[in-house]
Amino acid sequence: MAVESDQEPVAAHEDFVMVEHDAEGADRPLDDGSDFLAIISQYTETVSSSLRAISLDIHDNPELQYKEHHAHKALTEFLKDQKDWQVTPSAYGIETAFVAVYDSGRKGPTVSFNAEYDALVGIGHACGHNLIAVASVGAALATAHVILEKGLAGRVVLFGTPAEEGGGGKIKLLKAGAYKDHQVDISLISHPSISPDAALVCTAAYSAFKVEYFGKEAHAAARPWDGVNALDALITAYNAISVLRQQTQPGDIIQGQITNGGLRPNIIHAYSAGRFVVRSTTRARLEALKKRVYACFEAGATATGAELKLTPGGSYDNHMPNKALGRSYRHFFHRLGGEIPREDIDVIEAATTASTDQGNISYAMPSLSPNFWIRSEDKDGKQLGGPHTPDFEKAARTEEAHESAMRIAKALAATAVDVLTRPGLLAEAKREFDEMKREDQRALSQQ
Ligand SMILES: [Zn+2]
Ligand SMILES: [Zn+2]
Repeated sequence: MAVESDQEPVAAHEDFVMVEHDAEGADRPLDDGSDFLAIISQYTETVSSSLRAISLDIHDNPELQYKEHHAHKALTEFLKDQKDWQVTPSAYGIETAFVAVYDSGRKGPTVSFNAEYDALVGIGHACGHNLIAVASVGAALATAHVILEKGLAGRVVLFGTPAEEGGGGKIKLLKAGAYKDHQVDISLISHPSISPDAALVCTAAYSAFKVEYFGKEAHAAARPWDGVNALDALITAYNAISVLRQQTQPGDIIQGQITNGGLRPNIIHAYSAGRFVVRSTTRARLEALKKRVYACFEAGATATGAELKLTPGGSYDNHMPNKALGRSYRHFFHRLGGEIPREDIDVIEAATTASTDQGNISYAMPSLSPNFWIRSEDKDGKQLGGPHTPDFEKAARTEEAHESAMRIAKALAATAVDVLTRPGLLAEAKREFDEMKREDQRALSQQ
């Protein structure tokens, strides 16, 4: 059991570089020697081998978005075997979503965890969602165990959230009212990668869309003037975007692919099409960037006379990590022997241009999605591929990666129990969340 670390409590060894603000009005200090971390650790060790079996089962049977039937069955059957858990498979009309609830029967906060379990086309569990699934299940069960042992008030809700890889399962559950129905106060999840451990992961907002131009055929040599060239419209837009790229802010990303470039060289192209993805650090900045990119597509239409059609695709909000929850998580992660830099450094280093539908959750309630490092190296210690590579698919299957996921489960559970037992922490998390929402609305109104 690796509960105690030889590090001093975080508040003691860092207060000369940064003040660890405890929740205003908290009814006890962050580290008062409460023994619930020991209970969480002991309990998690007892379920670790069962969770390891589920993780391998999910990993070795990769399923794509909304087709995660095997994983859904493995997870819901395991949860149904847990005492006092109410499990709803295929929740909210989504076949591979589920909701599992543990209710103390006493009024208190509701803490929630999201479990992902979808894989990628062709390269299986190369995003390590098998580890996310068992980290969240382990954390939810451990939290419920502490509620039982300590007679705490409140509830734990575990959501099975399919289709993170582009399908937006969490957004569907949000829209269906899953989080509101269960009166969820906070949402916790985690993600493995080859980057260092981090609490305050910010992801990018992204928006995908399809672009089509409709022109008119003509003989390209004999009577080109009779035609309207749809490919020229798309190429003009593509070049305008290439020019725009230098004028964008750091964190702005524009990605494009031409999927239809016409029929034959000797016919003026009546149709062209492409797929584009735009990303930025916040959803307000994404709106601003989208306007500029759309102007490039309009330029293609204006220059050629072709008709433009834009069809929106998937869209995820950026993830706004809740710092109050991050402080709690980081404190317990340290006590479990892990290392996360202090808050101001963590928030910079943990920023990523990848995107997740947990971002949309973070605009609905205080959310935390810590990153955990797993080893993707060859036998000589040379760095191999990160998420979305075949190397990472192998890395997500090792015993060592499972041990890391179990440490994350413990730290997430401890954060959840902290929320349940320290009213000031939840109040601080919500105050920060409200402030972030006000800032978002202000920024959006200026677009
Ligand atoms: Zn991924
Ligand atoms: Zn992922």
